[in-house]
Amino acid sequence: MKQSCMSDVVISGAGMVGTALACALAPSGVKIQLLEQRAGSLQQWLDEVDTVLTPNRHDARVSALNLASVQLLTSLSAWAGVQSRRAAAYTDMEVWDGEGSGRIHFSADALHENCLGYIVENSVILAALHEQLSRYDNVELISGVSLRQLSAPDADGHRELLLSDGRRIEAGLLVGADGAESLTRRLAGIGATEWDYGHHAIVTTVRTEQPHADTCWQRFTEDGPLALLPLAAEDDRTLSIVWSTSPEHAASLMALDGSDFCAALGRAFEYRLGRIEGCDRRRSIALRQRHAHRYVEAGLALIGDAAHTIHPLAGQGVNLGFMDAAALAEVLLAAMVRGENWTDEAVLRRFQRQRRSANLTMAATMEGFRRLFAPQPPVVRLLRSCGMNLTDRLEPVKQHLVLQAMGLSGERPALARRPTI
Ligand SMILES: Cc1cc2nc3c(=O)[nH]c(=O)nc-3n(C[C@H](O)[C@H](O)[C@H](O)COP(=O)(O)OP(=O)(O)OC[C@H]3O[C@@H](n4cnc5c(N)ncnc54)[C@H](O)[C@@H]3O)c2cc1C
Repeated sequence: MKQSCMSDVVISGAGMVGTALACALAPSGVKIQLLEQRAGSLQQWLDEVDTVLTPNRHDARVSALNLASVQLLTSLSAWAGVQSRRAAAYTDMEVWDGEGSGRIHFSADALHENCLGYIVENSVILAALHEQLSRYDNVELISGVSLRQLSAPDADGHRELLLSDGRRIEAGLLVGADGAESLTRRLAGIGATEWDYGHHAIVTTVRTEQPHADTCWQRFTEDGPLALLPLAAEDDRTLSIVWSTSPEHAASLMALDGSDFCAALGRAFEYRLGRIEGCDRRRSIALRQRHAHRYVEAGLALIGDAAHTIHPLAGQGVNLGFMDAAALAEVLLAAMVRGENWTDEAVLRRFQRQRRSANLTMAATMEGFRRLFAPQPPVVRLLRSCGMNLTDRLEPVKQHLVLQAMGLSGERPALARRPTI
């Protein structure tokens, strides 16, 4: 049997959210172990990203980062690593009802901001965070492993973890950041409310005939939303798509050859940017809504997709996950300064209180959108279009909506707040 070692914080999952938490806690000097099922070292992962991403080759998985997430990455000194690779600032958002005449346009100018947010490839965000993490000696990455067993907490909230390679670790705090299918959540016996959205999302990179105008485009149809998001590229006609539709429709779209798929996409997008001239390899992802019944218990916390997943229609999933990471770091660091036992459930509940209602509100909003745009009788479609057009003209309502999406309204952790001058 291998020897047991002690760690202050063990984070399971070196994805965007788990790594952001490690970067936020590392400057305090606590001993952190980051477990990741993917094999390799931080340097190997960085080399891989920097070789795979070429001017003409993009990651099919992208995130619309809001300004609160950008501020968090800036506070973690990781935003420079994103910008040195690539990120596309978008200044406008055009949303319309594909079954009616409703339309809403959001613009950064109206808010006196430079942009509404950034579209960044997930592998770029991850590379910037991994690069930052590699600067800390108190963080150890254990890759190519998974949790196997988790003991009940002892009197201090500490747990013994058994890893898939036979290693044993005693963890002051275990954080599950291991994504939607979180093994940490399941091993801890924490249930989740979940249901199928009845949508699969097709993602890929496309090239359009006309320039994207630094705009995120989204058409709502009764099958599901179709988004075209501008990418940082050598030209201004390269975009990432997220096409959410029924599983049957997604399967038929996946079966098309490249040129037939481009033709179908052009039609579905009403040729807003002319013809679709090319597309990369497609991926289809089943979409599920999940919400863990609780985020914390003694010596354990769940963050990011391990705690909640939502429909990507408003591009908020990782933004919520980043706010979880920032809020948990803030609660833990404040408790350490006060000399409290920071693995105590009462301390961890402060994090849950901050994040659960914000995450539930966003999940309910996404569900509301999905239902609003599901097949409806003509009179509801008419009201829907009128509502969108009315909202477009009501500047204060529009500003409230967009500030929320940008992460600039309501409470947010200090790491995600802009410094006041
Ligand atoms: C089509 C689509 C489009 C999206 N677009 C947006 C968007 O525009 N904006 C936005 O904010 N969000 C978006 N999202 C959501 C976003 O992608 C997720 O919220 C985000 O990836 C969650 O990050 P995470 O780090 O919590 O989990 P993950 O990215 O799933 O990372 C989990 C990590 O844990 C590792 N892991 C898993 N299991 C184990 C284990 N047992 N042991 C050890 N390691 C493990 C994995 O290998 C991975 O590295 C989108 C989602 C989809 C499906």
